[in-house]
Amino acid sequence: MSSPVRAFRGVGGEPVFVHSAHGAYLEGPDDRRFVDYIGGYGPMILGHGHPRVVEAIAQAAARGQSFGVPTMEEVELAELILDPLPAEMLRLVNSGTEATMSALRLARAATGRNKLLKFIGCYHGHADSFLVAAGSGAATIGVPSSPGVPPEVTADTLLARYNDLAGVEQIFERQAGEIAAVIVEPIAGNMGLVPPLPGFLEGLRALCTKSGALLIFDEVMTGFRVAWGGVQTLFQIEPDLTCLAKVIGGGLPIGAYAGPSELMNRVAPAGDVYQAGTLSGNPIAVAAGRATLEILGDDGGAVYEGLESMAERLANGLREIARRHDIACQVQRQGSMLGLFFSETPIQSLADVDASDRGLWTTVFHALLERGVHLPPSPYETLFVSAAHGETEIEHTLQAFDAALGARGKHAP
Ligand code: PLP
Repeated sequence: MSSPVRAFRGVGGEPVFVHSAHGAYLEGPDDRRFVDYIGGYGPMILGHGHPRVVEAIAQAAARGQSFGVPTMEEVELAELILDPLPAEMLRLVNSGTEATMSALRLARAATGRNKLLKFIGCYHGHADSFLVAAGSGAATIGVPSSPGVPPEVTADTLLARYNDLAGVEQIFERQAGEIAAVIVEPIAGNMGLVPPLPGFLEGLRALCTKSGALLIFDEVMTGFRVAWGGVQTLFQIEPDLTCLAKVIGGGLPIGAYAGPSELMNRVAPAGDVYQAGTLSGNPIAVAAGRATLEILGDDGGAVYEGLESMAERLANGLREIARRHDIACQVQRQGSMLGLFFSETPIQSLADVDASDRGLWTTVFHALLERGVHLPPSPYETLFVSAAHGETEIEHTLQAFDAALGARGKHAP
C-alpha cells in the first residue's frame, strides 16, 4: 500500500486492485467495474480521464517533465485559483501535507507564537505537529499519535472538539497570547462529512481576530469541491491563510497555500520564512490543474449545479431506502461530498462518528462492493460524487444499497 486507508483495515478483507478508471468507474480484474465514490480521495471532481484534462497532461508532458525554472503556466494557475478567493498571493507545493505544514510555519513566524489549535477528528496531513491523538475533554495537550513524533513537537498542539465553540473560548481565555493559529477543516471531511454548526466558523474568526492568532482554513478537500473557491466563498468567511490541494491538481500531485500579500511576502525569496520544493509548480501537474479549473469555471457554474443535483438525488435516495428498512441513518451532504452514518442523531463531532453503528457500515460497505459500488473503505471517509456520475450510476447505487440493507446480517466483513 502506498497510503494506509487503502489497505481496508477500516472494513476488513482484501482491497480491490484496479488497473484503470474511466468516468464514474474504477476498473479491476476480470472486467469488474465499480461505481466510484472514492474519487481519488477528492481530486477527481470531473470523473476519471476527462478528455480535456488528459489532453492537457499529454501536451504538457510532450513539452517537458520538470524545468526547475519558472513558467507562465504556474502564474496562470495561481491567478485562476485566486480568482474567487480573498487571498492575494499563493505558493504552489506538492501535496496537502506540504501546504498545511508550510502555512503553520508562516503563521508561527508572523505571530512570533508557537501554539497551534486543531480540532479532534480533523486531518491536516502527516506533518508532525498535526499528528496528535484525539484526546477527550475540551482541551488536551497533544500526545503524538505515531511513534517517531517527538512529544516536544506536539506539546504546542492544543485540541478542541469540532463544533464546540465554548471549548475553544475556554482555551483562548487561558492561552490567547500564545496561540499562533487555529487550523480547521471548515467543513470536516475526515470524520465522514461533518458540517460546521451555524456560528462555529464565525466564532473562530472573531476569537482569532481578537487575540491576534491566524485562522487557517484547510480547504485541501473542500477547495473548488463544494463551490468555485471553497467553504470561504460559500459562507463568506475570510480566513488569514488557506491550504489547498486535490481538485486544484486535477489528480496530479499539487498543493498550495494562500493569503494576503502582507503575510505571503514573508515567504522566501521575498521574505525570511523558508519553504521550497524541487517539483513545486511541476508543469504536468499545473496543466492538469488548469484544465480542471477551467472546466469548473466554465458555463457559470454548470458543473457545480450538475454535481449538486446528482448528489442530492443520491442523498435523498439513501435516506429514503434506510427509512423503508427502518434503519437509523444520517446522510450529511455539502455539494458533492457526502457522509453516510448509521446513527439516530446528526453527527457533529468525532465522538458522534465513534458512537455510530460502524459494524453495520462495514457490512453495507462489503455488500455494496459485491454489487459493484466502491465506497471509501472506512466510515471515517467522505464519499465523493463526480461530474461523470449520472442517473445510471446513482440508480445502480441506490438499488445496491436497498439490496445491501435487505441482506444485512448475511454478509460477514
Ligand atoms: N488536509 C485535508 C483536509 C485532507 O483531507 C488531506 C488529505 O486527505 C490533507 C490535508 C493532506 O493532503 P495530502 O494527502 O495531499 O498530503
